[in-house]
Order: sequence, then structure tokens, then C-alpha cells
Amino acid sequence: MEAGMPLGWDWSYPTSSRPRSRDRMQGLSGLRLVTLVVSLGLLLGRADAADRRVLERIHYTSVREYTRVVITLSGETRHRLFTLPADPASRRSPRIVIDFSSAGLGARTPRTIPIHQGLLKQVRTGQFDPSTVRVVLDVERHDEHRAFALYAPYRLVIDVRGRQPQPAPLPDRQVERKKIMIDPGHGGKDPGALGRNHVKEKDVVLSLSKRLARKLEARLPVEVLFTRTDDTFIPLEERTARANAAGASLFVSVHANASHSSKARGIETYYLNNTNDRAARRLAAFENGLLHLANPVPAKTYVSNLVSVLLQNGKADPSIDLARHLQTAMVTQAKKRNPQVRNLGVKKGPFYVLVGADMPCVLVEAGFLTNSKERRLLLSPAYQNDLAEGMYQGIAKFLSQPDKNL
Ligand SMILES: [Zn+2]
Repeated sequence: MEAGMPLGWDWSYPTSSRPRSRDRMQGLSGLRLVTLVVSLGLLLGRADAADRRVLERIHYTSVREYTRVVITLSGETRHRLFTLPADPASRRSPRIVIDFSSAGLGARTPRTIPIHQGLLKQVRTGQFDPSTVRVVLDVERHDEHRAFALYAPYRLVIDVRGRQPQPAPLPDRQVERKKIMIDPGHGGKDPGALGRNHVKEKDVVLSLSKRLARKLEARLPVEVLFTRTDDTFIPLEERTARANAAGASLFVSVHANASHSSKARGIETYYLNNTNDRAARRLAAFENGLLHLANPVPAKTYVSNLVSVLLQNGKADPSIDLARHLQTAMVTQAKKRNPQVRNLGVKKGPFYVLVGADMPCVLVEAGFLTNSKERRLLLSPAYQNDLAEGMYQGIAKFLSQPDKNL
């Protein structure tokens, strides 16, 4: 059986598990047995239902040569991903198929999501068998795909890439400017780190990001893009998807730090990788929205599949290079008003917001909102300007290197 299940797949369960009517004819002991069997059946049924994950949502970002599909479930469950070639006889296009075990469709799960934009025709969902939900990506064309899982909520992200025939260039088309995606962390319902006096990371980093953008656009031949320009919540995986879809050359995620110790202070810059450093893991768990879960996801579980995604994209070295330039220049500029600033260095960490980016990508922690001196500085326009100047200089230096084939 394969992906061509009819829409409106038959939901009915096999009847063999129902007590047979002849059992009812077997006297009192028989009746007791039947009752026991039925009760057991009900219990098992309840257990099944409790374990069963619900496919809740599917959303996507799609442009000509890139599509990201995000499948959100009510909890983690095993999946199997495979591809099927085109089948001209039945006029079926190539398909990417994902089977989720112990799963069912939600009442509001769409059965068909037309895309017709870029690489995919549509996404279809169906109850393949009583315990398996099948999601099918009907592909127009594609060269590669990769998938990784994120937690809280549990979602499977599938990136599909493919080359499309280029349209003929316009005669006097201008040279395209490099695009830089700036990602102010958090937003909307997610305030990020909190400092005293209702200081929220999401506000500080938005202001800092806008200062950086003004400097970049004024002084470099680049186009600056934002993942958000106001107080809006944007899921982490959508931030990278927007950078990929826009064909950005760099991705810089801007954050401010927090610690249980009010003495913690300083600037640090991260690139994506796994780490054994407990503080970096804890920070990544916070930035990934995993820190305050009732049932914490073990780091081992949630980073294992991310590293392989990272290794495939070949952007690890330039990301480290970009992180070094940003870190050095930020610390230098910060010293003007904060001579005791601590250089916490360039570090690695498993940050969701950096996973699956097609370009060099880093995450900056510009200072600690839980340290009273740094909080005061981070709120001041003059210090924000220093930090933005540092970030600008780091980016400019990175881009000025002739060997950076971005
Ligand atoms: Zn943050």
C-alpha cells in the first residue's frame, strides 16, 4: 500500500476485537469472562488512546527553490521517511512520505494542503492504518531533502530543495545586493530573559537589532531583512526558513542573557554544534523554549539529529569565523562604556534557531539582563549603539574577506 490513499480515508477499526455475540450464550461464567474481556478491551483501548499522538498542524514556507514543511504532533512518536519515484502509469509525481506510528489525525487536521508554489504541489494527510498517520509531500521536482525533529511542541521539519530553470535576466538588471537576515530573539508571548523592573529581552534585542540594521544599510551595499520588526511571536524554525527562502547570505540572531547569579555578566557568541558544556546546554535549552517543561527533554534526545543536519550544510567553518569577528568587535566597542566587560568568548551550542540555515549563522548574547550594571547599560541608547557598532564591524570584516564565497 502506498501514499495514494483516498482522501477521507476510512476511519473504522477492525471489528475482530469486538466480543463475538456467541460468547454471550455461555451462561454466567461465560458472561463474567465476556465482561472481563470487554473491560480489558476498554482499558487497552484507553491506553492506546493515551499513547496515541495527534497530528495537529502542518505549515510551510515555500519559494521557487526551497520549501520547509513543519508537521506538529501532540507528542513525540516514531516516524519513517521514504521517497517514492514518479509513476507515469497512474500519473503520480514523486513523493516524500512520512509515516508516524501510534498516531491519529486531529479533528482539524487538513487532509490536503495545496502549495503549487516552488517545489511542492501539495501535502496530503491520511490515516493509513489504525495506528499510522501518513503525510505525503507531492513533489513537482526536488534534488534533496532532509528532516529533523524539534521539541516543545514536538515537530518534524522537512526541508526540500531543488533547482528550477532560471528565467532570462532582464537586460539592465541591477546586481543583486547581499541580504543579511537579522533575527531579534523572542517576541510576542515569548518575552525571553527577564530582568528587574519588567525589563524583557524581546524589547532590548529588537531595539539593538534595528540599530544594527541602520548601520549596515547606511554603510554597506547590503539589504537587511528582519525575522520580526515588532512585538510578534515567530516560531524558531520559521526564522531560519525565512532566511533560507530569502536567499540571505548571513543570519544573525540577537539575544540577551540571564543567570541565577546576579554577578554573571559579559558577551558571548554562539555557533551551532553540540556541546558538553553545561552552561551552554542550559542556555540553548532556554532559548529553545525547553527549560520550563513539566517533562524536560534530555539534551541527548533533542540534539542528536540536529548535528547531522548541521554537518550536511557545510557552513560550520564560516559560522565560526563570523562568530569570532562579531565577538571581538563587540567586546572592543563595549569597552568604551563598560571597561570591565567580560569576554566570554565564542562557544558552540545546540540552538534551534540556527538549525537548517543555508548560510553562515550565529547567535549573539549581548549581555546579562540579570546583572544590574549590564541591564542599565543594555537599556541605554549609547551602549546599544556601541554594541550595534561592534556587530556592524564584525559583519563588515567578515564580508570583506575575499575568500568568503557567500
Ligand atoms: Zn534569547
